[in-house]
Amino acid sequence: MAYDPDNIFAKILRREIPNKTVYEDEFALAFHDIHPQAPVHVLVIPKGAYVSMDDFSRTASPAELQGFFAAVGAVARQLGIDRTGYRMLANHGADSHQEVPHFHVHLVGGGPLGSLLTKRG
Ligand code: 5GP
Repeated sequence: MAYDPDNIFAKILRREIPNKTVYEDEFALAFHDIHPQAPVHVLVIPKGAYVSMDDFSRTASPAELQGFFAAVGAVARQLGIDRTGYRMLANHGADSHQEVPHFHVHLVGGGPLGSLLTKRG
């Protein structure tokens, strides 16, 4: 799947639409999900143009891979959910219902979370 430069997170990276930023560095931008599904629900995205985890893990440079996942951990610590617990989740492709075709990690926490998987149609 080719990267669509008009996806909503590409527009957020270009500052064409607003976001509630919680963290930014050379490799990653983190912002609050517009429809939070937990008391804390933050999305962490790489600065580079990657469709999903599959694309990112195959084609990102070692520096991007290291920088991005280090940023995910830093965001969790900044939010304080490293102390109480959190879930990190990334959807790839149709079966996962990935909505936005720019790789992103969901960080959810801030209270007890439900079971990992909920079957839906
Ligand atoms: P996915 O299903 O692709 O893993 O998750 C996409 C996430 O992006 C959803 O949780 C959705 O609420 C969030 N989202 C979609 N559009 C926007 C937006 O314009 N701004 C923000 N902050 N989040 C968005």
